[in-house]
Amino acid sequence: MRDDNCLFCKIVGGDIPSNKLYEDELCYAFYDIAPQAPTHFLVIPKDHIGSVAEVNGGNSAVVAHIFEVIPAIAKAEGLTNGYRVVSNCGPDACQSVPHLHFHILGGRKLGETMA
Ligand code: AMP
Repeated sequence: MRDDNCLFCKIVGGDIPSNKLYEDELCYAFYDIAPQAPTHFLVIPKDHIGSVAEVNGGNSAVVAHIFEVIPAIAKAEGLTNGYRVVSNCGPDACQSVPHLHFHILGGRKLGETMA
């Protein structure tokens, strides 16, 4: 289900342009507009889910699917030496877009701290 006020729903719908990497019936992947690593892309469910906090038994299949898609895209992007997967959830984690998304960061040795 789409949320017409949601930035990432608008990207999925093509109303806002994105640099698309991958798309299937369930998910959409695109480069982050403000990359924090040499390779930084986002993978999102096409249906609107606000954050990790809204994942439940009724919608969690897409999360499993996304975690199958991530390694395939990472491999295609040449992230052969590893990468980090991050999902910010809520204000304390500085989530800025309230549509579930997974950051994939790589292309260099990343920092050891996560917080
Ligand atoms: P978060 O802060 O975890 O909610 O991550 C949101 C991410 O979305 C940030 O890394 C932003 O740079 C990214 N972002 C925001 N708007 C766009 C956009 N139009 N296209 C691509 N990435 C975006």
